[in-house]
Amino acid sequence: GLSPLAQAAAKEVSSKWKGTSATGGKTKNYIGGKFVESKAEKWLEVRDPSTQTVVTHVPETTASEFQDAINAASEAYKTWSKTSVMRRQRVMFELQHLIRQHAPDIAKSIVLEQGKTFADAQGDVGRGLQVVESATAITSTLMGDKLEVSSDMDTYSRRLPLGVTAAITPFNFPAMIVLWSAALATVTGNTLVVKPSERDPGATMIIAELCERAGMPPGVFNVVHGSADTVNRICDDPAIKAISFVGGDVAGKHIHDRATPLGKRVQANLGAKNHVVIMPDANKNLALNAVAGAAFGAAGQRCMALSVAIFVGAARDWIPDLIARAKDLKISGGFEEGTDLGPVISPQAKERIENLIQTVTDEGGIIHLDGRGCVVENYPEGNFVGPTVVECTTDMSAYKQEIFGPVLTVVHADTLDDAIAIINKNKYGNGASIFTNSGAAGRKFELEAEPGQIGLNVAVPVPLPMFNWSGNKGSFRGEHSFYGKTGISFYTQHKTTTALWPHEDATGQRASVNMPQ
Ligand code: NAD
Repeated sequence: GLSPLAQAAAKEVSSKWKGTSATGGKTKNYIGGKFVESKAEKWLEVRDPSTQTVVTHVPETTASEFQDAINAASEAYKTWSKTSVMRRQRVMFELQHLIRQHAPDIAKSIVLEQGKTFADAQGDVGRGLQVVESATAITSTLMGDKLEVSSDMDTYSRRLPLGVTAAITPFNFPAMIVLWSAALATVTGNTLVVKPSERDPGATMIIAELCERAGMPPGVFNVVHGSADTVNRICDDPAIKAISFVGGDVAGKHIHDRATPLGKRVQANLGAKNHVVIMPDANKNLALNAVAGAAFGAAGQRCMALSVAIFVGAARDWIPDLIARAKDLKISGGFEEGTDLGPVISPQAKERIENLIQTVTDEGGIIHLDGRGCVVENYPEGNFVGPTVVECTTDMSAYKQEIFGPVLTVVHADTLDDAIAIINKNKYGNGASIFTNSGAAGRKFELEAEPGQIGLNVAVPVPLPMFNWSGNKGSFRGEHSFYGKTGISFYTQHKTTTALWPHEDATGQRASVNMPQ
């Protein structure tokens, strides 16, 4: 069963929020402003990753329920797209207030279903909240351009919504990533159908209720649960004009390649392998604390987790100090006071991570700190993997694959140039960081390292939402990335008007057939 703390949280979340059930029941869909129980035959279990207790079930939404969601979103679009931008802005002001007020409940739901610590889950909500806050600037960010082309002619542009849009989200940030789309798709005048991760649907259901309370009319924000079948319906439905996807490479490529030939816009954030370079002149404590936090926080299940540390030259003498910090971290259930790392998402994920750790010795690397077989008091069934530090070369499996667990792979380089070469050879391009006290080394790094999000003495360089998410190479597919200016571009299309208002009556009686210039 659930731990006493989790049990109390489950009761509280279930009793307060209409769409959720965190006590073993069924999570509802949210269609056309109503929380409705699916008539699905297929239901998927959601288990607390620290005890394996079933906390809820999510439906594989039926074809007709999916159609209901599309109909509701299409109908709502007719009026929502015409509401004034100030009204939509006001909804965002309300929403940011409500999310702030109810963040602890969203965080509790995340801990129950996803396993991360309560403090980390509040960060998950907080990063999504920042996107909602940035959406309140829509009255500036949606402005078009105007040019007086000549004394009697103007050209001007306006930014219009696309129609019904969809978001397909991963398990690791159940609030943040849903809020990226919930805010920007709707504030720009679109309606949205969300298909949250089938592993942790609760946060989305609370967000749905908050969207309603914030003043979104029925049908503007909808939730349909499910897995691949529901995703394929989203890819194929002609009413859906754009899909925001965040998740792994396999699903992301599938969705991109299935939906774009049908004329849909797709933005797809994919997997990652984020490197950090530690130079011998770095501030040692700053570097090692930040690297340990970014490698092992959230049990390594962040797309911007640091998974590779390149110690340059004499900095390799610090590896034992890094290991000491890793050993110091407390592993337990996410509700327990002082926990640093919760479990990974599933027994399958734990097995995959442990197998990848095994490949290190099989392929000739070194396991400096082995988190396998981690035993956690009061949580004998949990999917726990302890912080792990391995040493590899770049041809080994543990370097090449995304591990998505609390495993830091150490590789060596003699110079900064060698370190940058390693990073640039990697297929992914989400983020890369350097720790150094040399401005020149930092400047060289930011210019030459290819990944799209660079940290200078910052281990998790996720930009604030006035900028845009800028992962590149194998970590992204599509044209417009998430939030910031490109996020607004993703959810809008430009329309230009060219207007002629001559001062004098037209002269002559013959039509000109030449291309006007
Ligand atoms: P996932 O790809 O398994 O699932 C993501 C979504 O796709 C879910 O909603 C799921 O239902 C759906 N899906 C999964 N397999 C599918 C299939 N075969 N066909 C159709 N739909 C499918 O990802 P996950 O395990 O939930 O999340 C972890 C992954 O997400 C990691 O690879 C991580 O790097 C990535 N991620 C990337 C970012 C980023 O911004 N780059 C952010 C968070 C997570």
